[in-house]
Amino acid sequence: MSSLLEQLIDALRVLPGVGQKSAQRMAYHLLERQREGGLRLAGALEAAMSHVRDCERCRDFSETPVCAICASASRDTQLLCVVESPADRLAIEQATDYRGLYFVLHGRLSPLDGIGPSELGLDGLAERLAAGEARELIIATNPTVEGEATAHYLAQLARRHGVRPSRPAHGLPLGGELEYVDRGTLSHAFGSRSEVV
Ligand SMILES: [Zn+2]
Repeated sequence: MSSLLEQLIDALRVLPGVGQKSAQRMAYHLLERQREGGLRLAGALEAAMSHVRDCERCRDFSETPVCAICASASRDTQLLCVVESPADRLAIEQATDYRGLYFVLHGRLSPLDGIGPSELGLDGLAERLAAGEARELIIATNPTVEGEATAHYLAQLARRHGVRPSRPAHGLPLGGELEYVDRGTLSHAFGSRSEVV
């Protein structure tokens, strides 16, 4: 059994971009100078991991069964925007004046990794489209190879249910993650989206 210090260092390595060296530095920093902050971090982690779930409607993070956006009466429920991650959803919400609903994939189609339509919740999305819940499906997957393949699949799905598929305009950096695109570019690309052909 490893020591508590070793366990802490090991646990910190779950964070993205944190290797052994950084994890050691963080652990020593917390123990030497930030005991109070460390406890606050532990509490926040515990609470978030226990209580943040996926919204039943859009799969975005939510503490309630249905998130605030899906439950809002002031959104345009006929507009549905598909994004790969909750971070992309947040970026669009902060950078644009979009006031429709969202659908979060938590990934992208990647057959080699065993990620197909059902892993992304697309059966649920298809049901909503079949029920006539949207007139336009805005496909805001990332401009990567897998993101484009996912967009192609989503466009076909939309058409099958008589829903207009659209894409934010070009200008987004190729291979760039949506959440890192600057606000102006994202807002412009989103505002001048066009139908997928
Ligand atoms: Zn929701």
